[in-house]
Amino acid sequence: MIADNLRSVTQRIAASCAKARRPEDDVRLVVVTKKASVEEIGEAIASGARILGENRVQDAVIKHKAIGDRASWHLVGHLQTNKAREAVRIFSLIHSVDSIRLAGEIDKEAARIGKVQDVLVQVNVSGEKTKYGIEPAATFDLLKAADLYRNINICGLMTIAPESDDPELARPCFRALKTLRDEINGKRPEDRKLTVLSMGMSNDFEAAIEEGSNMVRIGRAVFR
Ligand SMILES: *Cc1c(COP(=O)(O)O)cnc(C)c1O
Repeated sequence: MIADNLRSVTQRIAASCAKARRPEDDVRLVVVTKKASVEEIGEAIASGARILGENRVQDAVIKHKAIGDRASWHLVGHLQTNKAREAVRIFSLIHSVDSIRLAGEIDKEAARIGKVQDVLVQVNVSGEKTKYGIEPAATFDLLKAADLYRNINICGLMTIAPESDDPELARPCFRALKTLRDEINGKRPEDRKLTVLSMGMSNDFEAAIEEGSNMVRIGRAVFR
């Protein structure tokens, strides 16, 4: 089941890449395991999952203990500053930095263990009040402040599109994040370009890839 689902998702990613005239290894798949058991995660890894995405640090701590570093772990959900220590210990990429305070806390905890923590800035492109993420116009200031920290490396931007069964409704949101990223890169030095665009979930990843996503976060389409 999981193996079949994973194969089907991988094929759909490849097809979207072909449609967008991009090589298929351009897009990395984060298998979101927030609703999966340890057994199911094991099955996903055996079927080729290389990156696991968790929503909550507490859940990741338990699953990481059982599974270890057979795959790499990404935090895709919101991070509270008081969980930064555990997060830095487990995750190779944190997708959800949305304040200078949080960036500072991650930097401090990463420095403590001699790590440079890769992070993405989560941007609330859709402007929904219920969503985490910094507003697009404030992203420049966050980057400017966070650039001073030595123990975080900002690799790119992440967004969550409004939930809908129609991926076309998500498309403008994806396009806006790509535009913001390009605008930011126009002002950044060569060695500090933002390369990662984390956007697209089970319902809308094909539209996201067509709009330039190179990291999709997929749960339900794998563990349904
Ligand atoms: C749950 C979740 C996903 C995966 O969503 P699906 O619809 O299950 O593919 C992706 N990103 C974030 C931030 C999530 O919380």
